[in-house]
Amino acid sequence: MYLYWDQLKQELSEQGQNFRGRDREATLLWMACGSCNGESMAILGAEGPGKAGYNLLDFLEDEGVRLLWHPSLSETSPREAATIIARILAAEEELAMLCVEGSIINGPHGSGMYDTFDGQPKRDIIRALCDRAQYVIAMGTCSAFGGIPAAPPNPSESCGLQFTNEQPGGLLGPEWRSRAGLPVINVAGCPADAQTMIKTMSLVLAGLPLELDKFNRPLTVGPCLSDGITKRCGTAQKVGYACVGCIGAKFPLSKPMFRQVELPQRELPVLLPPRAPIFMIPGSDAAGNGAPCHG
Ligand code: SF4
Repeated sequence: MYLYWDQLKQELSEQGQNFRGRDREATLLWMACGSCNGESMAILGAEGPGKAGYNLLDFLEDEGVRLLWHPSLSETSPREAATIIARILAAEEELAMLCVEGSIINGPHGSGMYDTFDGQPKRDIIRALCDRAQYVIAMGTCSAFGGIPAAPPNPSESCGLQFTNEQPGGLLGPEWRSRAGLPVINVAGCPADAQTMIKTMSLVLAGLPLELDKFNRPLTVGPCLSDGITKRCGTAQKVGYACVGCIGAKFPLSKPMFRQVELPQRELPVLLPPRAPIFMIPGSDAAGNGAPCHG
């Protein structure tokens, strides 16, 4: 099924929303792990020159969502954020949506200490937060499947929240479910684009049934430049190079651009004799003696 955003918004406003007009407040916490911050930049409005798209601030205002913390948007310091997290874990603060960006880092040697928050492996904090959230949304292919950091040789021992590449498992294991009874909702993409992330969060808040595929991707996820009517991917025509398949669970392993390729050994021509001077500085000899010193 494909829904245009305007059509979807109309449906959402007609279907009594389970967090809006609700008995509980919608809150959002955004955590960034092994990430290049691509999803944060996309959802904060950096979609490219001339594009002033719908962004996270619009979403929060329109949907009446209270942002508990976002590492690139909140003025709250990480120390104060640690207090917010502690209150969530102590069940003193409701957490409706936990959005995780970036791969889960387990290195070195399974300790998780390559990526810490407030002195603890971030991985452990994420696991505990997942158990408090009504919904957990993996924003981007890294948090969904491990993405680029999990590609061999995977020096950071990265994985996704419920998958490592296309293998079920990841941080939480395949059987894990959120408090609302759903697996992690995988908004795959590298980066996932702002509209897809916002549409997915709106569906979640509306309590509409989310159809997830075998990789737990909702219907909102599709090739970013596909034609909505014919479902044809127009990436090559629109940007001049082919789609790299970044919504796939195997990305980037499935693409030769990220594979190490052994080039045939060729003898390189010797252009210059060794130690031959390229420029002779006036007053110096061939070994550079007598040249002015700029050190
Ligand atoms: S999925 Fe891509 S854009 Fe998102 S954090 Fe990973 S590398 Fe960056």
